Amino acid sequence: MRIVVKIGTSTLAHPTGHLNIRRVEALCKTMSDIKNAGHELILVSSGAIGMGVGKLGLRQRPQDIPTKQAAAAVGQCELMYVYDKLFSEYHHTVAQLLITNDNMVNETRHQNFTNTLNRLLELGALPIINENDTVATDEIVIGDNDTLAAKVAETVNADLLILLSDIDGLYTADPHKDPDAVLLHKVTKIDDYILNLAGVSSTKQGTGGMVTKLHAAQICLDCGCDMVIANGKEPANLYAILDGRDVGTMFTCK
Ligand code: GLU
Repeated sequence: MRIVVKIGTSTLAHPTGHLNIRRVEALCKTMSDIKNAGHELILVSSGAIGMGVGKLGLRQRPQDIPTKQAAAAVGQCELMYVYDKLFSEYHHTVAQLLITNDNMVNETRHQNFTNTLNRLLELGALPIINENDTVATDEIVIGDNDTLAAKVAETVNADLLILLSDIDGLYTADPHKDPDAVLLHKVTKIDDYILNLAGVSSTKQGTGGMVTKLHAAQICLDCGCDMVIANGKEPANLYAILDGRDVGTMFTCK
């Protein structure tokens, strides 16, 4: 299978903004094993701004664009350093791709991006993609990595996109407030009922919430790629999803 895994900031980092070493180690180990089993893997990783905030010792996530972009420049190095180190332990070679919406909408650039991604997969490398936050301004920004990951899945004709977040999936109500909230295991259509459920969940550290995840799901449903929202707290969820067990919320037209 060709699989895109997206990891959100809240999965990668502690609330302090520093790396959650135990979790990231477990995730890299699991993804290495999945690659060893013969699957093709692409990682879309958030966390550049979050890591930069931690490394620069900023008190909070910046609001102004230059500081955000500076934090992303620092944090992206940290992210790739960690991924390179951890995946190397399992003999996997990582490759960094930083893109903007230009690479999605401009035909030539999109073709170049697609060619590079496909060649990296042929070479057995593990592409790790993020938005090029240091240069992405309003007119060229994708804005959130859920959408970016879905567009990547569409670009490479992936079979499956897994969004790892700090929530278990899509609930019928806020599970923190409503004891009757039920996790939906399978969604085949993003209709008004599903869209209305988006408000019941949000993440604190990252950019996305359920709204961007449902947007990503629509992109995936339109191109015939399955998508799962699952909790990144449990890296073993990745195995469970591939084993076809009911983990998180699966969006599929099958
Ligand atoms: N590209 C952003 C970062 O690396 C994250 C965007 C998102 O979480 O959706 O900090």
